[in-house]
Amino acid sequence: MIRTLEFRTASLAIHEHDIITTFREDGSQSRMWPPIGEAWYQAIARNLGYTDPLQYAREHEITHHWLADEMGWPHSWSLWSAAHGAWDSSKPARPWSQRVKDEEHTVNSLQRYINTGEVDAYGCLQAQWGDELPEAAGRLVALMRPWCRLSPCSMVGA
Ligand SMILES: [Zn+2]
Repeated sequence: MIRTLEFRTASLAIHEHDIITTFREDGSQSRMWPPIGEAWYQAIARNLGYTDPLQYAREHEITHHWLADEMGWPHSWSLWSAAHGAWDSSKPARPWSQRVKDEEHTVNSLQRYINTGEVDAYGCLQAQWGDELPEAAGRLVALMRPWCRLSPCSMVGA
């Protein structure tokens, strides 16, 4: 176990090779094994400004739960679907609902914004946060990259 994060609706356990969401509401779990060795996955990570696909994966899951808390949703629509069999590989793939598509877009757009400063072409980030976008992104960065948090010690000349 590398780190556990507690969100309003779920707990997220980051392990070396996988990431597990456990929802408080019913104890259901979504386990993600990021396909970090796959070229298509590496391409997505690169496009969002990551050099490390594993970091992309970990921050992606964190961002899903952060967004659900930020929006006051009952849970991340996307990870709730995953935890309830929507992506069961033994069954035919079910198309994503619009809200899952929208959530994935927002999560990836936030990640890209944090890494590159660029907003999404559809204007979703601006529509959601407007002038508050840098502040919202700053809260997310402080959560997912705790080493970037300002602390009183870091203000003292070392
Ligand atoms: Zn996702």
